[in-house]
Amino acid sequence: MVNLLDFDEAGMTAFLGERGQKPFRARQTLRWIHHGLVDRVEAMTDLAKATRAALAGEAEIRAPSVVRDTTAADGTRKWLLDVGGANAVEAVYIPEDDRGTLCVSSQAGCALDCAFCSTGKQGFNRNLSAGEIIGQLWHANRTLITDGVAAPWIEHGRHPITNVVMMGMGEPLANFENVVTAMRIMLDDNAYGLSRRRVTLSTSGLVPSIDRLREECPVALAVSLHAPNDPLRDALVPINRKYPLRELLAACLRYIEKAPRDFVTFEYVMLDGVNDAPEQARELIALVRDVPCKFNLIPFNPFPGTEFKSSPRSRILAFQRTLQDAGLVATIRKTRGEDIDAACGQLAGQVQDRTKRRWQRIHSTVTPT
Ligand code: SAH
Ligand code: SF4
Repeated sequence: MVNLLDFDEAGMTAFLGERGQKPFRARQTLRWIHHGLVDRVEAMTDLAKATRAALAGEAEIRAPSVVRDTTAADGTRKWLLDVGGANAVEAVYIPEDDRGTLCVSSQAGCALDCAFCSTGKQGFNRNLSAGEIIGQLWHANRTLITDGVAAPWIEHGRHPITNVVMMGMGEPLANFENVVTAMRIMLDDNAYGLSRRRVTLSTSGLVPSIDRLREECPVALAVSLHAPNDPLRDALVPINRKYPLRELLAACLRYIEKAPRDFVTFEYVMLDGVNDAPEQARELIALVRDVPCKFNLIPFNPFPGTEFKSSPRSRILAFQRTLQDAGLVATIRKTRGEDIDAACGQLAGQVQDRTKRRWQRIHSTVTPT
């Protein structure tokens, strides 16, 4: 069965065109699926009955199925989604007063193996299809509407999810085609109609793909920096050995010439005694001197087996102050959904859960009762 969630406008136009349908039918179909959030071809009532019947015989609307659905004390909600072959990915809904954000996964696992990342620790399983990526947004909006979630913009007829961050499991630029197809659907007025500023892609720094993204789908860009110099970044973010800082920052500059936002967000995970010293903050300031940017300092989220610890709050605040004193905007990421392991860097699906169970088993055998 063809999955209609896999198609952006070009894909849908081609698919329906081969079946004798005019391009406006593609837009209509996208509207039913992504605006109306229908889950059956039969529900698209302005298509001729015979067309619907023919389409239903070979196509369906298939989002990943939910394995687990948990809501944290602060309202953060995490869906564990089955993507087949014993793989699961996560999507996280983060409600705020003025927006509803969905953190979306792009791959099952990740090949890039950053030293502090639990997704990286499980290795790479596979790329998600465009349908599995956009399916996370489709599913979240449908579920939140069904559950009657309240927000002023929902009363005005908008979807609950107003912002998407490609910051879940995986490196989005390593699954370029499918991620861009999914993001085109996010931006499409016949689908979710999100502005480019409300869709943020976070990358560990695949330089050629940053350039390609700028040409093909220039959404807001976040770059996982994490270190102020190459030797340290080589150790923390191994892709730096291929695309060192000088090349990465040059790509950031090229990007913002074209992107809708006139700054890049640099993410910087705060690791105790590793990258959080005052002189490292000063080195960072010198490094990004030419790039219009904002910093987002992320308290490290520990996971079983990691050698890292989060910087103490006082050191994070001091680091922030140093950046601010140099005129940079620097925020500290609020930790959300900690009680359900939904925080940044905690998304690792079932494999992580297995590791955790194993860890708990080991722990319970060495802990006297
Ligand atoms: N692969 C992409 C996007 C997914 S990760 C990237 O690396 O940018 C989203 C953010 O969480 C990245 O900045 C990543 O470095 C950070 N992160 C990973 N593990 C973390 C952890 N254990 N604690 C805090 N942040 C983490
Ligand atoms: Fe992959 Fe991002 Fe984790 Fe690095 S931080 S291993 S790129 S998901």
